[in-house]
Amino acid sequence: MENLCRSSNRISIDTGALQHNYRLLQSRLPEGGRLLAMVKGDAYGHGMVESARAFYEAGCRVFGVAELSEGVALRDAGVAGEIFIMVGFPPEYGKFFFSHRLTPVISSLHAAQLLSEIAVAEQDEITLHLKIDCGMSRLGVEPQKLRELAEQVEQLPGIKIGGVVSHFPFADDENSPHTRQAFAVFSESCSFLAERVDTFCHIANSGAILNFPETLGRFARAGIALYGYSPAAKKEQTLIAGETLRPAMRYATRIFMVKTVAAGTGISYGHSYVTTRETRLAVLPVGYEDGYPRCLSSRGEVLIHGQRAPILGRICMNICMVDITDIDGVAVGDEAVLLGTQGTETITADDIAAWAGTISYEILCMLGNNNERTFV
Ligand SMILES: *Cc1c(COP(=O)(O)O)cnc(C)c1O
Repeated sequence: MENLCRSSNRISIDTGALQHNYRLLQSRLPEGGRLLAMVKGDAYGHGMVESARAFYEAGCRVFGVAELSEGVALRDAGVAGEIFIMVGFPPEYGKFFFSHRLTPVISSLHAAQLLSEIAVAEQDEITLHLKIDCGMSRLGVEPQKLRELAEQVEQLPGIKIGGVVSHFPFADDENSPHTRQAFAVFSESCSFLAERVDTFCHIANSGAILNFPETLGRFARAGIALYGYSPAAKKEQTLIAGETLRPAMRYATRIFMVKTVAAGTGISYGHSYVTTRETRLAVLPVGYEDGYPRCLSSRGEVLIHGQRAPILGRICMNICMVDITDIDGVAVGDEAVLLGTQGTETITADDIAAWAGTISYEILCMLGNNNERTFV
């Protein structure tokens, strides 16, 4: 008997699926190519440290996070390899790049100057990557300013340029002309670095890895595909060399109560749903507090005994009700699967995202980061 009081709601992460996905995506790169594993957002809800360890075991030696604090946590947890910090950093924390051997991605000369000052003070040096904006209008300098920035940065003491980074806004769409145009701009902008063997210019995300392999070069950054999904919610995009990516996250709970209500009974707050027949309900201890979106009220489905049970009425903070009238023999304590497979039925993060009007990324982050995780 465990001496821990745990929630009934459990995320389980299939680390074998993470490793399978890593190997499959890595196989898209040329010999010696490096696949960066994006583990921001607590690895899209899969657990940053545990996921990074799983990818490391599968051969991954380069990781990416958004914030400096995440990189520090990853290093402190003992993860080796190169760790990219994709978003900027508060100046007062710049020293952590040196103490924790993290790789900055910078969008301004100012940021490089700050790092150079620290490098000089610490008698150290650092390799950084420059970011250019090829259509996101997010981070990065304009492509035509890259060369000038590079020349200025290279004159700073203690600073080396390791590469150039950009990001595609449209690579999830396999027909987007924009992706080819952005890649042409990117390649042209980086061409002055072509002779440097240890400089990496990288722009490819999951969409590009799946749909535009010609944009990969020797370095690509995978996020959502590592977790088993295509960015466009298209299952056919997850097929690589006869094998498919495997979703790694499952979310399940136990039925808390079973009851029968008469036809014409209102369910949950506001009675937004009223039964049209005598209805058997299962009460689940899952709500929006657990990251299960309230907008799935009377829209979502869960799996019980391998069959689909629709959610009836509004989802509460910690509770929701599902219709089990057509499912035989359901009892308190039986498993209900909100995400993943039970029997022959599966609910994917893409299904939940479609009901909720969002993308799998958000569903994975919300469920994964609001529930206890176990790794199997
Ligand atoms: C999140 C992110 C990625 C990974 O994107 P996916 O669509 O999940 O593959 C790659 N590069 C940058 C800069 C990112 O922020």
